[in-house]
Amino acid sequence: MEEFMNIQMVDLKRQYHNYKTEFDAAVAGVLESCQFINGPDVKLLAEEMQEFLQVKYAIPCASGTDALQVALMALDIKPGEEVITTPFTFVATAETIALLGAKPVYVDIDSKTYNIDPSLIEAAITSKTRAIIPVHLYGQSADMDPIMKIAAKHGIAVIEDAAQAVGSRYKGKPVCSIGDLSCISFFPSKNLGAYGDAGMVATNNQALAEKVGMIANHGSRVRYKHEILGVNSRLDTLQAAILRVKLKYLEEWNRKRREAAQFYNAGFSGTKIRTPFVADFAEHIYHQYTIQVDNRDSLQKLLNEKGIPNAIHYPIPLHLQPAFHNGSLNFPVAEQISARVISLPMHPDLTHEEQDYIISAIRKFLGE
Ligand SMILES: *Cc1c(COP(=O)(O)O)cnc(C)c1O
Repeated sequence: MEEFMNIQMVDLKRQYHNYKTEFDAAVAGVLESCQFINGPDVKLLAEEMQEFLQVKYAIPCASGTDALQVALMALDIKPGEEVITTPFTFVATAETIALLGAKPVYVDIDSKTYNIDPSLIEAAITSKTRAIIPVHLYGQSADMDPIMKIAAKHGIAVIEDAAQAVGSRYKGKPVCSIGDLSCISFFPSKNLGAYGDAGMVATNNQALAEKVGMIANHGSRVRYKHEILGVNSRLDTLQAAILRVKLKYLEEWNRKRREAAQFYNAGFSGTKIRTPFVADFAEHIYHQYTIQVDNRDSLQKLLNEKGIPNAIHYPIPLHLQPAFHNGSLNFPVAEQISARVISLPMHPDLTHEEQDYIISAIRKFLGE
């Protein structure tokens, strides 16, 4: 039975084949036009994303990491200044802060949602703090209201890292419509994924939108006139064309992810497994379905033996990464959670048969 299952963590092949004619036509259209940079699809995608996210401006760029860097540059974050974020995220969130010479200042996470704990933020603010970057981890929004309130009180900016949460909501509002700036990744395995690297910055602030657009294009508005320092971070027309096909189905796919999550939850009920907690303010889109278990490493070994894909997001919190010299800092919740979490296969085309196979393997392992 196992050989025929062929379960994928994210099944990009199944998705491609389900919509092959549309993807092929989108790619052929770009090839025919030969407008590989800034072709019509780039502008159309920006407009469609503005509507989807309910924001005034969406500026495409080359990756989620670039989106974070360009957003920080648009805020003029300078060397020596501080940006508050979570230690329990993908490295790009803090890497971009550090690359600009600024200092990532970590605040521990909430043990239920795994997102930055707003009650700990104010104690981390100093005269050098310029921004807060909450991450909507695994597809669930951080608790934005208290974060926005603290930021307003101290006159600092909020950048939402929504790389894992396109289509997710906070108190009914789409993520990316709340902070001063928001960053999206269209990395292929993200819930809205391109066929290569791609990203986007969203904002409701016209001045910031103009600056982001300039920075992503060599600090230039008019060709060969460079007003500020920028980078080359444009979105390929091919990627925009692919993303426009996928965006039409994103709500449906996010709904299917929620259904798959509920199926897992039901399958694990009555066991010691801690299934994902959903805060009352959040509409989770399950970019990842991540459980907590006591004996994570032996469970991972079993899953690997059974050919069940899995991943650990993330095994080492950022304050313990060698790339960041953070010495004696400790964030007990992030450290504890990083030793207990494991993500299971999650994508819109997961079948009940595949989920039953995964659930029963895990239940058997637990002796349930
Ligand atoms: C994926 C991801 C990024 C980086 O996006 P890329 O497109 O891979 O550069 C940043 N932050 C978080 C939380 C992510 O998951």
